[in-house]
Amino acid sequence: MIVKKNVSSIEQYLKQRRVNLRKKIAFIPTMGALHEGHLSLIKLAKDKGRYVIVSIYVNPSQFAPNEDFSKYPRTLKSDLEKLRKISVDLVFTPVTKDISEYTHQKYSFKTFGLEKKLCGKFRPNHYLGVSEIVLKFLSIINPDFAYFGEKDYQQYIFIERIVKQTILKTKIIMGKTIRNKDGLALSSRNKYLSEKEKNIAKYIYKYLKQSRLLIKKGQLISTVLKKQEDDMLKLGFSKIEYLEVKDSNLRKSNLPHNKSRIFIAAKINNIRLIDNILI
Ligand code: AMP
Repeated sequence: MIVKKNVSSIEQYLKQRRVNLRKKIAFIPTMGALHEGHLSLIKLAKDKGRYVIVSIYVNPSQFAPNEDFSKYPRTLKSDLEKLRKISVDLVFTPVTKDISEYTHQKYSFKTFGLEKKLCGKFRPNHYLGVSEIVLKFLSIINPDFAYFGEKDYQQYIFIERIVKQTILKTKIIMGKTIRNKDGLALSSRNKYLSEKEKNIAKYIYKYLKQSRLLIKKGQLISTVLKKQEDDMLKLGFSKIEYLEVKDSNLRKSNLPHNKSRIFIAAKINNIRLIDNILI
């Protein structure tokens, strides 16, 4: 496994490597603190026989000043061990200065307001920060495929819609949400949860499934979601930032159909967790 720490060295390396590379290139961007969710995306790409590149970079521009950028878990040594174990081909671990100085041709695209919905209401610059870094990485690496997790469906659809409008050739692929045995979606931020908080957090998925069942049985979406919110607050969640049913383009969905999802962002003390399920 090759590790590259700056833009010019990965560009140079890939220029030579591409010459007789018979495999398609797959790219999985991450912020590290790797868990089975990240590894599942890598395995999807490995199973297709692709040349797999993973980036580890905690991107400051997607965090607001009051968010957890400085305390976000950074576990590079064990991350690299995990990646080596599953035979990732190339890892990119740039530093911020190098990335900020890198410029690429300007892509123009419409966002269709996707960055303002759901998480965007509470994290106003988040998705623009994400797209800035993802477009830089895609320009540097020029992969055939890039993988994103269903847990962050809004991020997946936002990137997918943007990239389609550019001249980038990368196809954006979604990998399904990986959960622990209690159903809690794996997340690097779960490291912040105490045992007691984990016991509360597991109800996110339980309630999502329960609401899905009630909606499928014909109950009114607004009534079901109101009850879920009340029940979660009683159980110990400190805040439900949003709990909404949207279609696959994140448009409000008053009637469930097979592409609608229930989306949630909930806080336990100050720890923010998100999840979503297909109805
Ligand atoms: P992050 O390191 O949190 O930026 O995540 C990197 C990628 O892994 C993103 O595409 C996430 O959606 C994806 N991911 C994170 N958690 C999970 C999970 N539990 N299941 C599947 N994919 C995940």
